[in-house]
Amino acid sequence: MHELSIAQNILDIVVAAAEKEGAQKITRITLVAGETRAIVPEQLTFCFEVIAGGTIADGAELDLEIVPVRGTCRGCGEGFIVEDFLYICPKCQGRDIEITGGTELRIKDIEVD
Ligand SMILES: [Zn+2]
Repeated sequence: MHELSIAQNILDIVVAAAEKEGAQKITRITLVAGETRAIVPEQLTFCFEVIAGGTIADGAELDLEIVPVRGTCRGCGEGFIVEDFLYICPKCQGRDIEITGGTELRIKDIEVD
């Protein structure tokens, strides 16, 4: 269950950032996650709620923005959005695809009190 380690990373980062700002409480965290990360939002939210208990992020809302996978065909140069993890070029049906997006995992925004 890789959601637990992701939740721990998020918690470490947001708590450190909020404490640096002198914040007393974290109310909302916006996370940008590429589709290739295969995060199950419910599991991530659950893990986060559990480990955030007793910290300044206790009760914080975790918003997840999923970024679609983007690919570029090495054969014809076509750029497209990969749907359902089908790494096939829609133009030439080529399978030599370079992944150009949808792999990121970063914290976009932290709201504090
Ligand atoms: Zn192609």
